[in-house]
Amino acid sequence: MNAAMRALLTENLKSLRLSSMMKNLENELRQAKENSIPYEEFLLNLSETEVRHRTENGRKRRIKEAGYPIFKPLETFDFEAVPELDRRLIRELATGEYLKEKRNIIFMGKSGAGKTHLATALGIEACTAGYRTRFVTGCGLTNELIEAVDKKGLNRMLKRYAGYGLLIVDELGYVPFSKEGGELLFQVLAERHEKRSVIITTNLGFGDWTQVFGDPNLTAALLDRLTHKAHVIPCNWDSYRLKETLKSQRRD
Ligand code: ADP
Ligand code: MG
Repeated sequence: MNAAMRALLTENLKSLRLSSMMKNLENELRQAKENSIPYEEFLLNLSETEVRHRTENGRKRRIKEAGYPIFKPLETFDFEAVPELDRRLIRELATGEYLKEKRNIIFMGKSGAGKTHLATALGIEACTAGYRTRFVTGCGLTNELIEAVDKKGLNRMLKRYAGYGLLIVDELGYVPFSKEGGELLFQVLAERHEKRSVIITTNLGFGDWTQVFGDPNLTAALLDRLTHKAHVIPCNWDSYRLKETLKSQRRD
């Protein structure tokens, strides 16, 4: 291939927005020549650089857009520290089967147990698998919804929240909702029922949910939908950080 043809090829790849193929062209051409790689294999190798690059970029973009407070992937979760947790179940959930089955996950337990960490880790796995995810706190979500009502943008917002491949509502129950807030949150969750998964983290047992949502009928209807086919994961061990601190003090 002469220089003019190569320049033309580079130009074509650029105008087709195949930037990774463009960047790797020289390298792959050289390798093909050196190792007498057949045309098909050369093209396969070159196209794979583009696919890999786009997959990785997409994952990064989805993780950024989701709004995770801290990047906490599953690899950083210490299963040894919490033997009460069903490790096999978490591994199974990480495969994302629950997303296909439109099942919800509820992490329920004390503060510091690692609920947000686990929810974030599963969210990151979902981003890797290509799902658009969104991380919000229960309080943040209700505030957003109430604001949307004031600005006459509720329908748009409900549509947005219905559209995420996975919605994570963190810390449900720390702050009680106003009547309006509870009803709006109900709408978001009911809208997703049997269509797309939700992960919830909460310090409340189901019996306490009425206190937070106010209305007992609404709470019953919400729980009925949320818990239908859901994985409810109790996290009733002591705070991970507290345990770690005590351990290090014993060592001193
Ligand atoms: P919760 O949401 O249940 O209150 P967090 O997920 O916020 O708890 O956990 C509190 C802190 O402890 C976080 O920094 C989290 O990463 C860490 N943590 C909790 N459990 C574990 C664990 N088993 N392995 C590693 N870090 C953990
Ligand atoms: Mg938390």
